[in-house]
Amino acid sequence: MQRIAVIGGGITGITSAYALAKRGYDVTVFEKHRYAAMETSFANGGQLSASNAEVWNHWPTVIKGLRWMLRNDAPLLVNPRPSWHKLSWFGEFIASIPRYAANTTETARLAIAAREHLFQWAKDEQIDFDLKQKGILHIYRDKAGYDHAAKVSQLLSKGGLERRAVTPDEMRAIEPTLAGSYYGGFYTESDATGDIHKFTHGLAQAAERRGVTLKYGHSVQDIGADEQHAWITATLEGEANAEPVRETFDSVVVCAGVGSRALAAKLGDRVNIYPVKGYSITVQLDDAASQQAAPTVSLLDDETKLVTSRLGDDRFRIAGTAEFNGYNRDIRDNRIRPLIRWVEECFPGVSTRRVVPWAGLRPMLPNMLPKVGPGKLPTVFYNTGHGHLGWTLSAITADMLADAVQDKNVHSQQATKSII
Ligand SMILES: Cc1cc2nc3c(=O)[nH]c(=O)nc-3n(C[C@H](O)[C@H](O)[C@H](O)COP(=O)(O)OP(=O)(O)OC[C@H]3O[C@@H](n4cnc5c(N)ncnc54)[C@H](O)[C@@H]3O)c2cc1C
Repeated sequence: MQRIAVIGGGITGITSAYALAKRGYDVTVFEKHRYAAMETSFANGGQLSASNAEVWNHWPTVIKGLRWMLRNDAPLLVNPRPSWHKLSWFGEFIASIPRYAANTTETARLAIAAREHLFQWAKDEQIDFDLKQKGILHIYRDKAGYDHAAKVSQLLSKGGLERRAVTPDEMRAIEPTLAGSYYGGFYTESDATGDIHKFTHGLAQAAERRGVTLKYGHSVQDIGADEQHAWITATLEGEANAEPVRETFDSVVVCAGVGSRALAAKLGDRVNIYPVKGYSITVQLDDAASQQAAPTVSLLDDETKLVTSRLGDDRFRIAGTAEFNGYNRDIRDNRIRPLIRWVEECFPGVSTRRVVPWAGLRPMLPNMLPKVGPGKLPTVFYNTGHGHLGWTLSAITADMLADAVQDKNVHSQQATKSII
């Protein structure tokens, strides 16, 4: 049986391990934390959102971003200190602008395909992850935002997504708790929300039941590969005197989130992921009045770039903002405050006495599409760089990755037979 190492125990690593195990591979996951989904897959916006498939490589978005740079509390923040990593990333981001429409449509198509897999896996493995299938409502305060969204809807519909325009009255009927005045909205009934950490944890347990070895607390320090094998050296976290673990595999799959770029460089591949920081707050709905006053339908406020999800009865998650500031996970008060203020304005009946803040780094590629498939060497694969949509896309990209591994094995078996 082919032995495959997966590096990373976030949503992409665990879904990859699960998809590979289902196809009969002998899989080992290396994850530096003690549990699955402790980094970016910990407390994200929760949206399984084909309706948020619009890529950011668009001149109006760039111009809006430049204007935002002048505001301290804007949804986008770029540390002006130049670095080769940041400059090369922005250069490639701009170079991808001509692919804006095609990449938006392709992302929508992938997001729709992902749902089927994710819901099926959760059902098969009986994973409770606070799934809510009540749709996502995009809200707009002005005509300009609404008109742009109407154009995006056309691109999404080419990818197979039905997203309908709704009037302010219809918005109130869809989500009666939302306060404020709006120009209009777009509602995608087929979108959903759920807790990424709970799902990843549940799927990791299911993968283990299917024979996957989960090496938690193993930090991969070195990695190499040739035409036949891949090898890994990992140290045990918190055990300074322990001997490093060295293992050889038939193939390796890199799913290390913002750590993938450095690992890819060791394997001779360029995977230009930048860590785009975002924040979330989880409002604890401790009293019945707050539970009543919080929305059950997921929202996306395009102006402030905030997304929401209701996780069970007693948690309300709000997430957003994009910061280009390197590998920095500090939780800054002036980035958290606008999220709390937004809740207080849009849902005045919700108590914000108990709010849990969090920051995570989106592993984002400049064209905003993930890298899925082989690297330069036949023993190296990637499923990484999912940016702002890793939760939404993970199930389909894991399946695509498993296809790529299988194809490579079929071809190499055929090549061996023809040589013999
Ligand atoms: C604020 C915010 C809101 C978001 N909202 C949404 C949303 O609503 N919907 C959506 O679809 N997406 C959303 N996302 C994006 C989504 O959360 C990410 O795309 C996804 O979690 C990335 O998963 P990953 O597996 O690539 O990375 P991670 O979850 O970070 O996993 C990578 C893992 O690799 C491990 N690792 C790295 N290097 C090594 C090493 N050398 N050795 C061992 N282990 C290693 C890390 O410890 C980590 O556990 C959001 C992101 C943020 C930040």
